[in-house]
Amino acid sequence: MKNLNNPMEILKLLDKSNCGKCNESTCLAFAAAVSRGWREISECPVIEEDVIKQFGDGPGVRKPSDSDIEEVLSQLKDRLGAIDLATAAKRLNAPFKNGELTLKICGKNFSVDSKGNFSSNIHIHSWLTSPVLNYILEGGGSEPSGKWVPFRELKGGKDWARFFEHRCEKPMKKIADSYPDFFADMLHVFAGKQVERQFDSDISLVLHPLPKLPILICYWKPEDGLESDFHLFFDVTADDNLNIDSIYLLTTGLLIMFEKIALTHN
Ligand code: SF4
Repeated sequence: MKNLNNPMEILKLLDKSNCGKCNESTCLAFAAAVSRGWREISECPVIEEDVIKQFGDGPGVRKPSDSDIEEVLSQLKDRLGAIDLATAAKRLNAPFKNGELTLKICGKNFSVDSKGNFSSNIHIHSWLTSPVLNYILEGGGSEPSGKWVPFRELKGGKDWARFFEHRCEKPMKKIADSYPDFFADMLHVFAGKQVERQFDSDISLVLHPLPKLPILICYWKPEDGLESDFHLFFDVTADDNLNIDSIYLLTTGLLIMFEKIALTHN
């Protein structure tokens, strides 16, 4: 599969109608975003199928192979084996019993031993393992302050902000717009909590994908010809408890779960 890095070469593959269906103002802006790895060429909804097959996912910077993931996990597990898990549990204020540290993730218990083996009575998704291990290894254990900030204001967030908007917030907004039980599912399936309306949103709720990493989800309903809006906010301490790559991974993992649930129910 070929990859492209030059916006002008990518532009040649697009229909140049500047229709805006990709949420970029022009085809050139979209081509530039693809060349930088912020978007995938397949995100242009009017592109020919055979172009996608031929050129795949733009410059190909984002999709690590299974072996890359395995390697990262194996390095994290090695590092875990070299630390004292009981001390890490104290730092994170997490229960530690029978050689296992337990974390509550979206209301469910997940236990990890010093070899990085996970146990839980629900399915353990691969998107969860590396953020959880990073949280245990590097999390500062800071208590959430209650002050919410957007992703781009976290340490290193600016570099990922475009990705985050396109890969997390916009797809989540799409689900919220089309799947009426989206927020009810967050409350029941993900143990979310409805909170007082924040930032003048119509719906505000908080999820805890990791104990000290709450995420505030805000949705503004469409009104008076204005389309809806959807944003995620993080506690200002989030980047002390988890590095930005893991926060991104964790959030895209949540998106995958939301998409699966919406697909099952729709
Ligand atoms: S959706 Fe495709 S054709 Fe329309 S502006 Fe975006 S890149 Fe151009």
